Amino acid sequence: MPRAERRPHTLPESIQRILCISAHPDDNEFTVAGSVARWAREGRDVVFCLVTSGGAGTNEHTPNTDGLIPRREDESREAARILGVKDLVFLGYTDGALEPTLALRRDLTRVIRQQHPDVVVCGDPTTRWYGDRYLNHPDHRAVASAALDAVFPSAETRAIFPELLAEGLEPHKVKEVLIVGALEPNAWFDIGDTLDVKCAALRAHVSQVGPGEWVEGLLRGWGERDGKRVGVRYAEAFRRLILS
Ligand SMILES: [Zn+2]
Repeated sequence: MPRAERRPHTLPESIQRILCISAHPDDNEFTVAGSVARWAREGRDVVFCLVTSGGAGTNEHTPNTDGLIPRREDESREAARILGVKDLVFLGYTDGALEPTLALRRDLTRVIRQQHPDVVVCGDPTTRWYGDRYLNHPDHRAVASAALDAVFPSAETRAIFPELLAEGLEPHKVKEVLIVGALEPNAWFDIGDTLDVKCAALRAHVSQVGPGEWVEGLLRGWGERDGKRVGVRYAEAFRRLILS
């Protein structure tokens, strides 16, 4: 393996609470679950906030939407259990129709003020496509945009969303943001010890992956690609923003 110019990142002791905000029930398992399992093993509290419950996730394994939402919520709970995630928050928005509205920003601000995360993990709202094969889902961009706006300025600013103060939710300042899927990452986490757990968690989304025989190959390939950047076998890549 050629020498990498960078080293993998590890979270400092001061980071104990992590909130991952995503649009769909399986987004975290495709992207950040190796790091999540690692953080959980290190004794940190990880909470998932899922903006939709994936009611539009039809495919060859799940050809219609009958009973899909409770099924996907159950799959999400099982994946979270596998990863060591402490809690799940479902916001119940309609899958496939998300916009970065003020209402969504307020709901995410509420979750941040309730959960007090040191780090918020979310997607990259600026990326419309990856390579020449994948258009980024508009729900992913909408949630990422609202999440970043909730982190700053909404969660930490007393005068924004005074109705949250009336609910007893005081401002909260997030220390760092980790953006997954960024085209210019600057922080990589070694997931060599947790890639297998990531694969198992994604396979828990049976309504989406079926038997999941392709899961391991896909996630190993992505992990190897990102691992090369920091000289480890498998990694996940983020854009890290330090806010305080
Ligand atoms: Zn998604």
